[in-house]
Amino acid sequence: MRYQPVIGLEIHAELLTQSKVFCTCKNEFGGSENTRVCPRCSGLPGTLPLLNKNAVYLAAKAGFATDCTVNNYSSFDRKNYFYPDLPKAYQITQFENPICTNGHITVKGGKDIRINRIHIEEDAGKLVHDDYEGISMADYNRCGVPLIEIVTEPDFRSVSEVQDFVEQIALRLKYAGVCDARMEQGSLRVDVNISIMPVGSDTFGTRAEIKNLNSIKAIGRAIEYEIERQSDILDNGGTVVQETRRFNDNHGDTKSLRSKEEAHDYRYFPEPDIPPVLLSDEDIEEIKKSMPQMPQVRFARYTKEYGLPDDDAALIISTKEFSDFYDETVKINPDYKQVSNMMLVELNRNLNDLEKTINDVPFSPCDLAELVKMSTDGTVSKNAAKDILKIMFDKGGKPMEIAKNNGFIMDNDTSALEDVIEKVISENADTVQSYKEGNEKVFGFLMGQVVRAGGKGVNPKLAKDLLTEKLK
Ligand SMILES: [Zn+2]
Repeated sequence: MRYQPVIGLEIHAELLTQSKVFCTCKNEFGGSENTRVCPRCSGLPGTLPLLNKNAVYLAAKAGFATDCTVNNYSSFDRKNYFYPDLPKAYQITQFENPICTNGHITVKGGKDIRINRIHIEEDAGKLVHDDYEGISMADYNRCGVPLIEIVTEPDFRSVSEVQDFVEQIALRLKYAGVCDARMEQGSLRVDVNISIMPVGSDTFGTRAEIKNLNSIKAIGRAIEYEIERQSDILDNGGTVVQETRRFNDNHGDTKSLRSKEEAHDYRYFPEPDIPPVLLSDEDIEEIKKSMPQMPQVRFARYTKEYGLPDDDAALIISTKEFSDFYDETVKINPDYKQVSNMMLVELNRNLNDLEKTINDVPFSPCDLAELVKMSTDGTVSKNAAKDILKIMFDKGGKPMEIAKNNGFIMDNDTSALEDVIEKVISENADTVQSYKEGNEKVFGFLMGQVVRAGGKGVNPKLAKDLLTEKLK
């Protein structure tokens, strides 16, 4: 039988706060085990949590980044379970009253994926299984790192919808400064809830949850595997069991971890040590105002208003810093296409050669705007503009100064150029004869001689026109 997958996501994103969510330990990645722990985040009796205000702001920003409603009232609950990476034996989370609700993101193809909620919670520690044979070690550095969990409705019907959604979430959280979204480091982790149903049916099947997928590729492979596994079970007359499974990246398969818990298994109850979070309308408005323009809005502006091709616009928005640089440059020189070309081709070429990023560019958008203008208005040739950009990277300086000091200013003096051409023609009589006999290939050689004799300031178009004229 042919089946249709039904998929929902739970995405955990670590917040970019300086300190942890309920104590003053540093919120960082890496370092030695158990060096960032204190009585609070290691769960010693008698300690009280103190909520990090910035974690609340960042969670609200995540809400604005995904078109959620940011709620005036939210509160914390305890989720009780025992596991060695959770020394308190409960996780503080938002169960009854999450900070954000009812968002959505439009994925490729125009379909809206609904976001049920975004809530704040604390991360657990990590168990290290591989360092000592037969022994697992607990590292509590991650205990109490602030997280948001983004929970979608089961609106996905294909791998590509899921992958596009996760890519968009990662990019938007980065733009908003909420999370660095380094999936390989675990700062963004995706749980996939997946069931299948016969094509044409609208009754959902029993779902399995695949935990902690940490790359876009792994998400795709895990879903494909799970569709096949569940299809095989149903085709052979079996029933899918509701459970939590782990994806093994090396084998490309999923294995059962445990039967899936229901909410009541966790005995949620209100966290008595943290007062509810109250955000006034003014607070919420202020957070909203601090949001940068989101990548999907910029993409629409670049393609619809500026007339850039989709591929170019997608490359420009790939980081906020690159897009900001582009926006600053076209504010000064609104030649959208030429600025885009200069940045995507020449600027990126230099950055790649130097193994640097847009943050390391040693000149201002204003300088780049001027360089593009000099190139388009004929002050310098296209090739000279490339050389000038390289000098701006290597030695610094303003484009116009560099052009003057290096003889790049295009010479539009026709009579001087005519003299140069006359000279080249008389010195290459044989080649000229060959051209006149129909060998048009040698034109390039003659042009090369003209450019060489005339220097860097030769206007290539003018030279070509004059040379063609003289050779008639
Ligand atoms: Zn601590």
